Amino acid sequence: MLIGLKDALDYAEDHQCAIAAVNTPIFESLVATIRAAEQLNVPVILAHAQSHEKINRITDIGPAMVSLAERASVPCVVHIDHGEDLHYIRTGLELGFTSVMLDGSRMPFERNVETTAEAVQIADGYGAGVEGELGVMTGNENGDPDQGVADEALYTDPAVAKQFVERTGVTCLAASFGTVHGLYHREPKLNFDLVRSLRREAGVPIVMHGGSGLSNEEYRRCIAEGVRKINYYTYSVKAGLDGARRLLDQHSDVFVYPDVASAATEAIASNVKAFMTCIYDADQAVA
Ligand SMILES: [Zn+2]
Repeated sequence: MLIGLKDALDYAEDHQCAIAAVNTPIFESLVATIRAAEQLNVPVILAHAQSHEKINRITDIGPAMVSLAERASVPCVVHIDHGEDLHYIRTGLELGFTSVMLDGSRMPFERNVETTAEAVQIADGYGAGVEGELGVMTGNENGDPDQGVADEALYTDPAVAKQFVERTGVTCLAASFGTVHGLYHREPKLNFDLVRSLRREAGVPIVMHGGSGLSNEEYRRCIAEGVRKINYYTYSVKAGLDGARRLLDQHSDVFVYPDVASAATEAIASNVKAFMTCIYDADQAVA
């Protein structure tokens, strides 16, 4: 069933867990992520990033996301990840997305506030929640080793976060406290005290981006300090590729693509399920 961002975050607060927000730019990821959530009987956030338009356009994969979310046996949020402009946000909301992120983190502060506040106003009209972002997370989803290191100078300032949330009215806040997008090229060093201050000052749930490659202990400590949504992508699709490779290595007779797609789906589902098992209290059934 389709639910809103606020519903998912309330569930996370009630269960003292974080909700998995998995990017599903390809159909294999979409099916696999829903399968994992259904097996664990937990809510999930299905996300499409604007930067993934080159993989599949939101106008193509979006309707599939909404439709599968409606039919799923567990609550699903359908979310725009890293929305860069209001036109894109509107496109998603028109397709039935129940949640959007407006990423103004690279804009000057005042412009980030204005644009995010406008996104909140637009989303309100659709009954959808909004995630804002403050502080910059470096990224290397293309595998660039020079960028897989967090820069402390760009971490989110709790006092500024408070101001940002008050002035924009966002439902939750993506913040920078040591994670990076893509692969880590150096041991990540997360600032857990900063997560706690951010949660306290911002007054809304904190979102962790760059959730691939952290230890179970790191996830749990972040959740204990107030993280309620964890974005996850790189390791899930890496697992998909590994699953496809295994199939091809072991079965030289494979000659059609759907066999490879099925192997990838299975591998993504099992990877996402392992991630979810760690960040949810999976013994708890969905209320
Ligand atoms: Zn992100």
